[in-house]
Amino acid sequence: MLQTTQKLIRQAGKKLGLDDEAIEAIVRANAEHEFKITLADGQTFKAYRVQHNNKRGPYKGGIRFHPEVDLDEVRALATLMSFKTAAVGLPLGGGKGGVAVDPRQLNPEQLEEVSRKYVRHLESHIGPDKDVPAPDVNTNPAIIDWMVDEYERLTGDTTKASFTGKSIEKGGSKGRDAATGRGGVIVLAELLKAQGKLEKPLTYAVQGFGNVGSFFATVALKDHPNWQMVAASDSATALVSKNGLPAQELADLKAKRGRFANYAGEAQKITNSELLGQDVDVLVLAALGNVITEENAHTIKAKYVLELANGPVSDTAGEILEKADITVVPDILANAGGVIVSYLEWTQNRSGKQWPEEKVNKELYKYLSKAAQSVLKISQRYKVSLKEAAILRGLQVLTQSQRLHNR
Ligand code: NAD
Repeated sequence: MLQTTQKLIRQAGKKLGLDDEAIEAIVRANAEHEFKITLADGQTFKAYRVQHNNKRGPYKGGIRFHPEVDLDEVRALATLMSFKTAAVGLPLGGGKGGVAVDPRQLNPEQLEEVSRKYVRHLESHIGPDKDVPAPDVNTNPAIIDWMVDEYERLTGDTTKASFTGKSIEKGGSKGRDAATGRGGVIVLAELLKAQGKLEKPLTYAVQGFGNVGSFFATVALKDHPNWQMVAASDSATALVSKNGLPAQELADLKAKRGRFANYAGEAQKITNSELLGQDVDVLVLAALGNVITEENAHTIKAKYVLELANGPVSDTAGEILEKADITVVPDILANAGGVIVSYLEWTQNRSGKQWPEEKVNKELYKYLSKAAQSVLKISQRYKVSLKEAAILRGLQVLTQSQRLHNR
């Protein structure tokens, strides 16, 4: 993943006419922190924080708890965060963190201990003006609330701007839970608008009806009633119905921890791999990374693939899809709604205010629609895929900031 990310950046750098030194200055991370977290009972876990680039503002990026987390993965994700924040025009840099732990093997006290010790190790390197982490895979507002509390205890900082993705009661932003799914709707709509297809009927399938996938569907239901969800899956079961699936009802079922396997409404049950090959206009990938690879790319019938998870389409699969005239809407752009509202949360904390959800959504729309339009323009100008265009856009913005910084 790291090599592919760096290869993409070097290719983009050449296209923009940058010299090797300028490209390597962007590829290199500013700082890498690698340490061990030892619990009172003796268990030890490897932990990381990579701070990739802060020329545009404090480092920003999630912390994941996953047994397979390693330094290279965190490096790659930190690099992509710098490109994501730059591509959508946020005054933030890029970072990422992780602990190589399976949180399901920990009791709540141990989980809290890991979270607080992570902050203790990094205390002098993070903070509202240095590095502002957020939740990621297997971390959530409850974990972030512990982290903020620990940071406050250690430093006396009461702004709550040290982390984003907090619970609403502890300074989180309204609209943060829906932001990534809502962002996906905004980006897809901008693309369709540019192609004169926004008002036409459209069918879609969602892989991964969790937080992101379910908000994509419920926001789409309100904002684009001409979009019809005909298939959706959780980790075990996919549902399909030619007459359309009820987005809100399925979102309510999932909110109550229900399983699609037990869904009694009008739908046929199929496998997850069958869902990927459905004959729909848009395939929304909102579960995991690397789900479309060279093995199954030829089974995709959708005209657009929306990457709401991070890296769900492998690079080789991406090339196969583009050759088949299937447009991949890249993660850097399609799932940036989350980091945009994280930025808005940080802004609210710093001013001591909490905005109504309408204001948050309006700001989200402004950032994302503008970013989507520029990525589309770059893709037309350089005749490249949207993925390359998003990297090019990020690189343009980053090199500009780097130059200003070096003056
Ligand atoms: P989530 O855990 O709420 O939802 C994931 C969903 O995917 C669940 O419904 C799960 O059952 C399903 N799933 C898991 N394995 C599957 C499989 N093999 N096939 C089909 N479905 C499967 O997580 P989320 O917050 O919705 O995040 C989804 C993805 O989006 C993750 O990859 C995450 O890294 C990425 N992402 C999330 C955010 C955010 O703001 N939450 C921001 C950017 C990217």
